[in-house]
Amino acid sequence: MNAQVSPAARRDVLRLPLLGRALKWRWGRLLLQVPLLALALLLVYDGFTGSALAAQNLATVLPWVHYRGVIVLALLLAGNLFCMGCPFTLPRTLAKRLSSRGPRFPRLLRNKWLALANLLLLFFVYEWLDLWASPLLTAWLIVTYFVAAFALEALFSESPFCKYVCPLGTFNFVYSALSPLQITTRSHDVCRTCVGKECLNGSYSAAPLIVIDQIGGDGQPTATHTNGPRGTLGCGTQLFVPQIKSNMDCIFCLDCVRACPHDNVALAGRAPGAELTRADALPKRWDMTLLLVALAFLGVVNAFGMVPPVYDLLQSIGQPLVALGWNAAAAEALGLLLVLLGGGVALPALLTLAAASLSRALGQNALALRETAAAFAPAFVPVGLGIWAAHYSFHFLVGFWTVIPVFQKFLADHGATITPDWSWGGVTDMALVGLVQGAALLAGFAASGYLAQRTAMRLYRRRAPLAMLPWLALILLLALAALWIFSLPMEMRGNVLFG
Ligand code: SF4
Ligand code: SF4
Repeated sequence: MNAQVSPAARRDVLRLPLLGRALKWRWGRLLLQVPLLALALLLVYDGFTGSALAAQNLATVLPWVHYRGVIVLALLLAGNLFCMGCPFTLPRTLAKRLSSRGPRFPRLLRNKWLALANLLLLFFVYEWLDLWASPLLTAWLIVTYFVAAFALEALFSESPFCKYVCPLGTFNFVYSALSPLQITTRSHDVCRTCVGKECLNGSYSAAPLIVIDQIGGDGQPTATHTNGPRGTLGCGTQLFVPQIKSNMDCIFCLDCVRACPHDNVALAGRAPGAELTRADALPKRWDMTLLLVALAFLGVVNAFGMVPPVYDLLQSIGQPLVALGWNAAAAEALGLLLVLLGGGVALPALLTLAAASLSRALGQNALALRETAAAFAPAFVPVGLGIWAAHYSFHFLVGFWTVIPVFQKFLADHGATITPDWSWGGVTDMALVGLVQGAALLAGFAASGYLAQRTAMRLYRRRAPLAMLPWLALILLLALAALWIFSLPMEMRGNVLFG
């Protein structure tokens, strides 16, 4: 059949001469995973055995200063590259091969509630235990990740860790909406007649299995292909390529590319954020809506945890409790929990409900509250990433070169004749750092405003200017709150002077 290639698939990275071949190669993912696994093991080793000073240990400097800055850049320039090279999924793959097919993940948990709860848990533990200041605890966190990924993969038939549990993956799923690449089909016609749907079902089979693609007029097969032990597992997060409309839940593993017997999967270029303008790109569920909005609010709350007013707030919550006989650590934990739950969940949930109700009233549209909130939630993705980028770029730029003396120290501790040069730091021009932060915030705010306006036009037509006001106000509130926080002195975590 002469299938027509879709316009999107004409910008297919997998068709590029060298890169395309490397990505499609059976072991292509390992090119990223093996170095990252080696790095993760190095961090765990240094975390357990190296210096207890955060600014002198790889386990704290690399994850808390560099990883987060790199991840935002990768998402904006290419896509979900961290999930693609995720070292935690290496033992997961092993578990999958070892395990007999287990049950599916419980239906009740097949949504984003657990992922949202884990994000909150990670932010809470990060602040409460000062993970950024503890190489040992950071090493334990990495070990916990490996164990959780392995256990969940061994227990369940799908890949619940990435899709429903992992907080890092959840962050990447949300913000890869702004990435310039997405998995898509080369031709829908080919998928329509595809028998095995290997992109989802996998092309792996313990014994060779002949799949018939076409039967001729005489009743005999005219086109077949064989699946066998050299094949690939299907999409772990259970995405079906012809139906993919966004990057949500896609870990960029490219298993679908390797499994498709018709070479019909493309990693296609697209306008960043294209999926945010589509009404049908994301499920209209409360968990998804709250995740998109709450993650933007959590960006503000997380940054708030590093500026002076947070200490006053925590004290005002903790002091009365200590006076009542509470232990100081428990009082601090409760204070942190209240700030996180209040600012990162309750406030966005209430404000989203209020904005959706107001929007419906002003727009005089019969759309249900859930659908209204779901329609506007994608507008919070750019401003959210702008806030996270502004925050992470601060640590990334200020501590950019700190990795050099920390590596030198690691080598010196293990016998190399080298003296760490602690004069390596990062960008010292705070005006420049502020400029980068301001640009990230402004770009996020402008893109979010544009998306809210587009959604309002789609839903309310002539009444759009009125109906979009509550959402614009909310987006503005977020951007201004972030601007205020970034104008305050922020803890320079991971820097040798402060670590
Ligand atoms: S992407 Fe490939 S395996 Fe999946 S339905 Fe289309 S042709 Fe079949
Ligand atoms: S197999 Fe699934 S998760 Fe992996 S790249 Fe394809 S669609 Fe994305």
